Order: sequence, then structure tokens, then C-alpha cells
Amino acid sequence: MTKTSVITCPECGHQTIEQMPTDACQHFYVCKGCGEKLKPKPGDCCVFCSYGSVRCPLVQAQPEVQVRETKDVSGFRFERLVASGHSKSK
Ligand SMILES: [Zn+2]
Repeated sequence: MTKTSVITCPECGHQTIEQMPTDACQHFYVCKGCGEKLKPKPGDCCVFCSYGSVRCPLVQAQPEVQVRETKDVSGFRFERLVASGHSKSK
């Protein structure tokens, strides 16, 4: 599992290597280049999934989702994430 990600700011293109939390999704990230407050894109669970070089650890921990998300659109992946969350809670 990869726990470091290179976040690329969509505003200024600044890249920063960040450690990803393995127990939670990070919903906000302040760019160290321009100070822009980044939020996940629709369908993404965290800023690392939207702007990072690799998916967040929570997504990496779900092989089924990871396989699908590499070849499908983000909207579909979001549905899979929701579905797998439900099945886990049963
Ligand atoms: Zn920036």
C-alpha cells in the first residue's frame, strides 16, 4: 500500500509530497504553493483521490473498487464505494 502521494494543485500546478492518513479521508488540503483550499472533486472521497498521484489508502484497501476505478468513470467508482460501504456494515 502506498502511503505517500504527490498532490498537484489544480490552481497553480504546485506539487507537494504528502503522507496520507490511513484511517480517514482527507477532505481539505491547503496548497503550499498558492494557499488554495482544495476540496475533493465530485465522486472522489478525498483530496488525494482527486489531486494525488495515487489513490488514498482507503480506496487501495478495496481491491474490487481499485480494479474497477482504473478503467471506469469517477461517477461509477463513487457508486461502488458507497455499495461496498453498505455491504461492510451488514
Ligand atoms: Zn496551488
